[in-house]
Amino acid sequence: MPIDLSHDPAVSELAKRTAEFVRGVVVPEEKAYGGVTARGGDEMRVRLQQAARDAGVFVPHVSPEYGGHGLDMRGRAPVFEEAGYSLFGPLALNIAAPDEGNMHMLEAIATAEQKERYLRPLATGEVRSCFAMTEPAPGAGSDPSSLRTRAEKAPGGWRIDGRKWFITGADGAAYAICMARTSGEPGDRGGATMFLVDADNPGMKIVRHVETLDESLYGGHCEMVFDGCVVSEEAVLGEVDKGFDYAQVRLGPARTTHCMRWLGIARHAQDIAVARAADRRLFGSRLAELGMIQAMIADNEIDIAASRALTLQACWELDQGRSGAQSTAVAKTFTAEAVWRVVDRSLQICGSLGVSGDILLSRFLREVRPFRIYDGPSETHRWAIARRVVRRHLG
Ligand SMILES: Cc1cc2nc3c(=O)[nH]c(=O)nc-3n(C[C@H](O)[C@H](O)[C@H](O)COP(=O)(O)OP(=O)(O)OC[C@H]3O[C@@H](n4cnc5c(N)ncnc54)[C@H](O)[C@@H]3O)c2cc1C
Repeated sequence: MPIDLSHDPAVSELAKRTAEFVRGVVVPEEKAYGGVTARGGDEMRVRLQQAARDAGVFVPHVSPEYGGHGLDMRGRAPVFEEAGYSLFGPLALNIAAPDEGNMHMLEAIATAEQKERYLRPLATGEVRSCFAMTEPAPGAGSDPSSLRTRAEKAPGGWRIDGRKWFITGADGAAYAICMARTSGEPGDRGGATMFLVDADNPGMKIVRHVETLDESLYGGHCEMVFDGCVVSEEAVLGEVDKGFDYAQVRLGPARTTHCMRWLGIARHAQDIAVARAADRRLFGSRLAELGMIQAMIADNEIDIAASRALTLQACWELDQGRSGAQSTAVAKTFTAEAVWRVVDRSLQICGSLGVSGDILLSRFLREVRPFRIYDGPSETHRWAIARRVVRRHLG
């Protein structure tokens, strides 16, 4: 049976317009924007998002009811990849982490009231949000069941106590989606609940920005404390004790869209390296005519093509309503490592220029490294992939 890998014409058209917008409007901005320490500041986000709205490429993933194009996962793949060609393309289109994953999850599980209050302003770009799951040791990290933040019943709702860190975008976010334990003990596989916590809740505080290699995500990565944080019953997202199930609704697609966006950066890195290799002359020939450089250019192309194929396979499964647990883990592990290899090789091809701040590669390298850790470290995914394979073998 033939396999048709072409996209719907409307999707291809949107991807083309996204590419034009990102290369024409966002990339020049990225080059001009030296060291990005954007924490909480919103000036650039607001400006770029207005430009994306004007170009008709804003929020491609949410349904038209919330102002988007309603793309399924397969439709998102080429559009997000084009947006990802610049570090700020996803921000401009309002498809950057963590907001993009939060929109996806809110659309899937929030009540009608919660959608109006939390999803709509997020989708329009009026506000930002964050997703608070990870905790300092010995709390939740690669192993979510270690969750220690607790929510106890309180008059009129719930009281949340605990500590979170590495919460992307927390500074300046209008609300957090906080995962807390409502039953069981750390180590239990169930018993978590998601809560929508408004930023002005006096029980939720940002205690510091964690310094990290990457610096392009708005609001930084923050450590937060929930100290007697009281929320109403309406703050519960989905059902009590179903938080780990809902996390899967978010995490499978979110790790897949990360692959799409970082593929864009890989392509940008390859373009920079190829342009340099075609131009630079060494030992009587162009750099691009030397075999070892050709091998790196070819390996980049292979890594990009393989990552795209695995990502599309995961998209297809998610679009069928399957969990995609295995395919998203395979795509995420491969792509996170492949994108790192592509950026690293591209930097090598450019020599000392590559590590300088004169071109974007050193910045790309810093930005892509954490992708091998967040949304599941490579080792966690390999462990889970192998367990599923062995389980299948044992029947
Ligand atoms: C830039 C960045 C942004 C982030 N943003 C968010 C956010 O917005 N919200 C949020 O909740 N969290 C966020 N995180 C946290 C992220 O999800 C966690 O870092 C990740 O889940 C790993 O948890 P940990 O850091 O506690 O590492 P640990 O759980 O301490 O793991 C350490 C190491 O153990 C190894 N390991 C893990 N599992 C296995 C295994 N099965 N077998 C062998 N070795 C293994 C891996 O090498 C892993 O790196 C972010 C992290 C980073 C770096």
